[in-house]
Amino acid sequence: MGKITFYDGVKEIGGTKIFLEISGKRFFLDFGMNYKKRNLFFEEYLNPRVANGIGDLYFLGLIPKIKGLYRKDLVKFIRREGVEELGNEHDENFVDAVFLSHAHFDHSGYITFLREEIPVYMSKITEHLLRAMEDVSTTQFETSMFKFIKRPALGNFRSPGYYGTHSAINTNGVIRLDRTTVHTFPVDHSVPGALGFVFSGEEGSIVYTGDLRLHGKRKADTEQFIRNAKKFKPQILIIEGTNLRGENSEGREFWTEEKVMERAGEVMQKTTGLVIADFSIRDVNRFLTFYELSLRNNRKFVISLKDAYLINRMHEIGMPVPDITDNNIYVYLKKKKSGTYIDTDYREKWIKQILSIKGIKTIKANEIRNNEDAFTIVMRYWDLQELIDLRPVKGSKYIHSSSEAHSEEQEIDEWRMNNWLKLFNLYPREHIHASGHARKEDLFRIVSEISPKIIVPVHTEHPEEYVKKFGSKVKIVDEGETIEF
Ligand SMILES: [Zn+2]
Ligand SMILES: [Zn+2]
Repeated sequence: MGKITFYDGVKEIGGTKIFLEISGKRFFLDFGMNYKKRNLFFEEYLNPRVANGIGDLYFLGLIPKIKGLYRKDLVKFIRREGVEELGNEHDENFVDAVFLSHAHFDHSGYITFLREEIPVYMSKITEHLLRAMEDVSTTQFETSMFKFIKRPALGNFRSPGYYGTHSAINTNGVIRLDRTTVHTFPVDHSVPGALGFVFSGEEGSIVYTGDLRLHGKRKADTEQFIRNAKKFKPQILIIEGTNLRGENSEGREFWTEEKVMERAGEVMQKTTGLVIADFSIRDVNRFLTFYELSLRNNRKFVISLKDAYLINRMHEIGMPVPDITDNNIYVYLKKKKSGTYIDTDYREKWIKQILSIKGIKTIKANEIRNNEDAFTIVMRYWDLQELIDLRPVKGSKYIHSSSEAHSEEQEIDEWRMNNWLKLFNLYPREHIHASGHARKEDLFRIVSEISPKIIVPVHTEHPEEYVKKFGSKVKIVDEGETIEF
């Protein structure tokens, strides 16, 4: 008999941790950070104490209480407190493998806490994206998969080096693990490299969609996944439901990636000053949308050092992104340390690596300032201080191209951003965005076509919408609940 236990991320968006037992194998499908639960206790300046290993996360209920799952160096901290619930270093590995659907932290984040010898299967793009993001980020404790510091990090605090890495394995379509076969299929999402899975054993087949959509640039991938998944005549379909209620059901038009291109194109054409584009660089297709529009409008495309690092990595592994030495791409230098742009201000390893690429062109704020209608610059909330150096002229535009605020903190950030935009000729901003998740009608079509015996909604605040459509075939599960098949 097969079993699925839903440890987290069922009646909420994010934090997905699904435990599947099939034909004698035990897998986790995603092991994400649950932002919502985390936000109940933590915020920007109030974080889990590294000096307590996974102790803080354990006591606050932010990780499942399972033996043989977590890194031995971290489990020691909790045993010191007299807690046996997470076991000890002699426990057998709880799972045979983890299957990671994509590179969003709400699916991947807490893999960092798992035993490093447990293999983590992911797409090649996901691996390179996660590696690139780790290379350029300073906060590592909760989200690092490829270079984590074993704890306690005694001694050389200033530069401890990196002592661990999880064993990442690229999936190439079919993985056979004894009597279990796992098929992986690319799906379209707001990050490239996303996968959907079919797990097959003697008990039947289980399909897991991960996060997906049918209105993006790579919708053909999702269509292909649906056709393939259907062939397995699955027992259970575990499907996301982010948009079961949302933009379209509230009377607002549901935007496709094409619509984003069209609308952003119109705005750019009319803009006489600087265009500022605010989108997640991990959304490589959105990058391509704004890059293409810039070329069409005779604007050079200016990206940050971090963005350049990530795009360069994507280019190296063959993704259809431009070479960062392309004539139309400039890399923006922020003032650092001395504030005078001298070479020694830019000494981090990854920055040196980017700046040493032959043909790379850097640009400073004052070079854009004299010539604003010749540029599109990619910026985000955390870069707002750059407006002081850029000083956008009247007729400049701020295009916000990611999801709208949906929590109180995000609303405060938006208020603060508007204060900046008002001062710098950029208010009101243009909101131009297409969701990373399928709209309701598309989700229903995916279910109808795959036609499973049982539907289990995850990654949604409104699982009951599936019940309204598919009735008793839908099984709404609670956190921690196990179903058998
Ligand atoms: Zn997600
Ligand atoms: Zn996602």
